Amino acid sequence: MGVTYRIRCRKCGHTFSRNYGVGYNGQGTMYCVRCGRAQAVDFSGGWGWDPTCECGGTFDADALGRCPQCNSMLTKEDIADDEPGTHGG
Ligand SMILES: [Zn+2]
Ligand SMILES: [Zn+2]
Repeated sequence: MGVTYRIRCRKCGHTFSRNYGVGYNGQGTMYCVRCGRAQAVDFSGGWGWDPTCECGGTFDADALGRCPQCNSMLTKEDIADDEPGTHGG
């Protein structure tokens, strides 16, 4: 699991790569579907975290978070390309 997407923000045009999902070590980052807040997760010891954000939304593997430049919510439409095989480390 874990995939790196190249994101191109449709709002400001900023392009960057971000890793989504959980890696082989059971650790990764998920984003709130509602406010886009990032949450570090660690599944190596089981489901030991609360998937509910303080805003009432849910941290989900499908949520893409916010653009680091203009802070707008990113959607699947903002994915420019995926980069298979970029598993560093
Ligand atoms: Zn939230
Ligand atoms: Zn942006």
